Amino acid sequence: MNGQIFGVSLGPGDPELITLKALNTLNAVEVIFCPGTKSSDGNVKSRSMNILRQLPVDTAKVRLFQVPMSRQREEALAAYDRLCAEILSLIATGKSVAVTAEGDACFYSSANYMYEKLRQSGCPVKMIAGVPAFIAAGASVGLHVVKQQERLLVVPGDVLVEELLETVVSKRTLVIMKVPLGEAVLRPFVARHPELQYDYFEQVGTPDEFYTSDVETILACTFTYFSILVIRPGINKN
Ligand code: SAH
Repeated sequence: MNGQIFGVSLGPGDPELITLKALNTLNAVEVIFCPGTKSSDGNVKSRSMNILRQLPVDTAKVRLFQVPMSRQREEALAAYDRLCAEILSLIATGKSVAVTAEGDACFYSSANYMYEKLRQSGCPVKMIAGVPAFIAAGASVGLHVVKQQERLLVVPGDVLVEELLETVVSKRTLVIMKVPLGEAVLRPFVARHPELQYDYFEQVGTPDEFYTSDVETILACTFTYFSILVIRPGINKN
């Protein structure tokens, strides 16, 4: 695998939810790039690194890179540009490299820009699939996310009232990622529609995991970035 680049999905947080293929790849490459973010206390926090530490992987070959918060798009792109240059220089010397991503690396992954840039530079990234957080969330409480003829819509936070209302009149299930981004629309909607089924998850597969399906409890939550809200038609509408 000399000179190859892999986009390795780590799964949503529970280290056991990494695939065998991803684990084998991490152990085969020479350098593992792992994203982190700088918190207000100046320390770099990395959920990916937390997962790697719990796996039989040599963390000495891990290089943490900082990704500015998602809203600072230009800074984030500049960080990815620097990282691409570093990766390209490594593979030019025949080294093999993995870039990790939480959940599935091809599902709303912020590293997508970088994978595309590497591809455009003539170095395609071989992607290794993983368990996306919303699938792990469903499994964690035995929720059959969609069944029979039901349809599923996944929204990256900025949910529209129309999309929410569609859930009321159809058998559609809505998965809302990045819940705080839709907070202004979601809170009043949830309060107005207690007849729907809500499943709210935080930090699935980690020690900070939290789950509730109770409307009052959901409304009392301070929504965190690593959260998912699943909205389904009410039981009597199924
Ligand atoms: N590639 C990831 C998604 C990254 S986008 C995947 O396949 O799941 C980031 C969003 O994913 C978060 O805002 C949150 O909605 C969701 N997410 C990721 N990990 C999570 C976890 N452990 N628990 C709950 N939500 C999570």
